Formats: sequence, C-alpha cells, structure tokens
Amino acid sequence: MRAMHTIPGAWHRAAAGAGLVGSDGQVRPTIFAEMSALAAETGALNLGQGFPDEDGPAEVLEAAREAIAGGMNQYPPGRGIPDLLAAISEHQSRFYGLRPDPAREVLVTAGATEALAATLLALIDGPDDEVVVFEPFYDSYAAIVALAGARLVTVPLRWPEFQPDLDRLRQAVTDRTRVILVNDPHNPTGAVFTAEVRDEVLRLAERHDAVIVTDEVYEHLVFGAPHVPIATLPGAWERTLTISSAGKTFSTTGWKIGWVSGPAELISAVLAVKQFLTYVNGSPFQPAIARGLRLDDGFFRGIAEALRAKRDLLGRGLRAAGFAVSEPAGSYFTVADARDLGATDAAAFCRALPGRAGVVAIPLTAFVTPEHRDEYATLVRFAACKRIEVLEDAAGRLAASRDRA
Ligand code: PMP
Ligand code: GLN
Repeated sequence: MRAMHTIPGAWHRAAAGAGLVGSDGQVRPTIFAEMSALAAETGALNLGQGFPDEDGPAEVLEAAREAIAGGMNQYPPGRGIPDLLAAISEHQSRFYGLRPDPAREVLVTAGATEALAATLLALIDGPDDEVVVFEPFYDSYAAIVALAGARLVTVPLRWPEFQPDLDRLRQAVTDRTRVILVNDPHNPTGAVFTAEVRDEVLRLAERHDAVIVTDEVYEHLVFGAPHVPIATLPGAWERTLTISSAGKTFSTTGWKIGWVSGPAELISAVLAVKQFLTYVNGSPFQPAIARGLRLDDGFFRGIAEALRAKRDLLGRGLRAAGFAVSEPAGSYFTVADARDLGATDAAAFCRALPGRAGVVAIPLTAFVTPEHRDEYATLVRFAACKRIEVLEDAAGRLAASRDRA
C-alpha cells in the first residue's frame, strides 16, 4: 500500500518537475505563507507577503455588510452578478476606452489566481504547448503551467530596470507558443513595461498565433504615466485575455474577487473550466466591488499617490540600511540588492532577517526557475503596502542591524 505521505498524483509529479517540491518530496507551502508564518512566529514586521495592513474604502466595506444583511448569501450567477459585470465593463471603458460586453465578454472569478488558472487550463492543449513568461514571475504561474501540462519558457528581467531584452523575447516566442503571459505592473520587480515591450508582445503573438494573457492586478498602483493594457493596442483585443482583481485596488485581498475580460469565445472557454474549479464565489462581495469600481477618479489617484509616498519612504530606508534599491514604477513592491550586506543566498538572507533585524522580506529566488536562482541570489523583495509607521519602524530596524553588524 502506498504510504499516505508519498506524492499521490500526477500533479505532484508535474510540480516536482517545475521545482515546486522540497527535498522531502512534498509540495512546498508558498513562499508567502512561509514568510508570513515566520513573521508571526518571530514578531518581525511583515514586509514579505503583499497585503495591506489597513482597510480600504469604507463604502466598499459597508456595501458588503449591506449585501449580507440583504440576503445575498447564496450562489451568484456563474459569470458573476450582472451589476458587477456591468461595473467591470464601465471601469474598462472609463480608464482604457475598452467596452467589453458585460454579458459575454466579462467573467468574475475567485481572485486573479483562479482567472489565471482557468485561463491557462482552458487554453493549453498538451505537452507541446509553451507558455512564455517574464522571469522572475508570480509563483502561481509555474504551478498552473505544470498542472496544465505545458512547458514554461522564460525571458529574463535583469536588475535594476527589469525590462526584457527584446531579442530574448523574440527568441522565446515560436509557433509552439500558445500563451504569452504578461504581468504588468510586475510582481516582484515593480517594473512597468515600456511601449516597445507591449508592441513586441503583440507583434509576436500575431506572428505566431498566440493568445496574450495579461495579469494587471496592480493596474491602479502606478507611479508615472497611467497604466496601458495590452488589450487597448490596435488589433490586440481579439487575442487578449485581460485579468485583474479587486484585492489590491480596494485593499480586500481576502475577498478574492477577480475577473477576466476579452473576446466572447475565449471567455466562454475560460468559463467552461472555471465552473468546475470554484463554480462561483463571494456573493456579498460582488456588489461591494461593483461599488468600488464606480468610485470617482480621485479615489484611484489617491491610492497611487499614497503608495508612491510609501515606496519613497521604503526606498530611503533601504538605502540608508546599506541596500542598493531598484526604483519600482508600480506595484506593492521594491527590490533591493543585499550584496553589500554580505548576502550570497537571498533565501538564507531572508530566513535570517527576522533574527537579525526584526523584518521579513521575500527572496527573489522564490520567483525564478531553479536553474536561474544564481542570477537573483542577492535580491530581496520588500512590500511597501504597509502603514507609514510600520515602514518607518522597519527602516529604523534595518539601519540599526547594519550598525550592529
Ligand atoms: N497576480 C499577481 C501578480 C499578484 O501579485 C497576485 C497576488 N496578489 C495575484 C495575481 C493574485 O491575485 P488574487 O489575490 O486576486 O488571486
Ligand atoms: N500576491 C501576494 C504577494 O506577491 C501574495 C499572495 C499570496 O500569498 N498568494 O506577496
């Protein structure tokens, strides 16, 4: 009989192939869970996992309470409640000039994570299919590509700008490419891709008949020019699935309301998978996010400005503590190089950081394939989405630990 603790199934084998399994043969907890547990255990300040430590807009929270009190507690429709579908479409129109048909071209999901999973599972056709991603990449990408049985092809983003080399991108995309998956603004690097990168992604997708899948969960958290979805480029809509989530915009990461928009045929294919993953989720949160998406422009400007100030504060603190810092153009995150602090292994550095400084951060090596870890071995990601006093405290602790060293 098979021991209960042995890897039980095909997905676990695929995960092992993708480097997601530890030396004990078990699928590892995500780096975010591991580091948040370390923060809880040690009492260190958690600049690791990307979640805000303050509530978002009061009217959004109130709308969820009203929905629960008003009886919105049973299964919502499979695609999402009509009011949220309409609000997503209005949001895409207000900010980007896109006008997805709420009934056919929008789908509500259990966070961006489910949208990504259902999309890749819907599109991938077998082991010869390739998914091109920029590396480092958000951790669920490799897991889902492994689960879907395709091959992950990576294009490196290099410190400190983290923009891809266009020749490397051209080499990566071939007729085997089924999906080009673009996370912009980018986690973990904070990069916002240039117009040249967006244009090249579209050109290559057209030339090789690939689908573009975008992960735009940080769309409103940009510090320079407004965000530009690839779906807005001429000719892009037909082959692009645009994914986002309410978690970051409204500081409701635990609500898990996400969505995907794109041409009706592709959305139907994603829905066909999604209905057997979660079926539906978050009844009372759906009207609340509809309310959030209809907040005035000032709200959306305000969250970017507030995060920009936090980014600046964190960056100054990290520099003062001896890190080299890559200035992010968007997202919750700042990448710092700990080389001058003696780091040679980012994971070991991050495991020691709570003891050394009382701060938790995430090693960039957690976002790359095992064979590329050496190239990111001194880089560490810090989350800026925390209260000002927490960031100040963290900066003070990091500086003090440097002085002690
Ligand atoms: N994509 C990226 C780039 C992320 O950083 C995250 C995590 N917040 C997600 C997807 C997952 O989003 P959600 O919590 O909506 O599933
Ligand atoms: N997106 C968050 C981050 O990058 C974490 C989400 C999660 O824990 N899965 O830190």
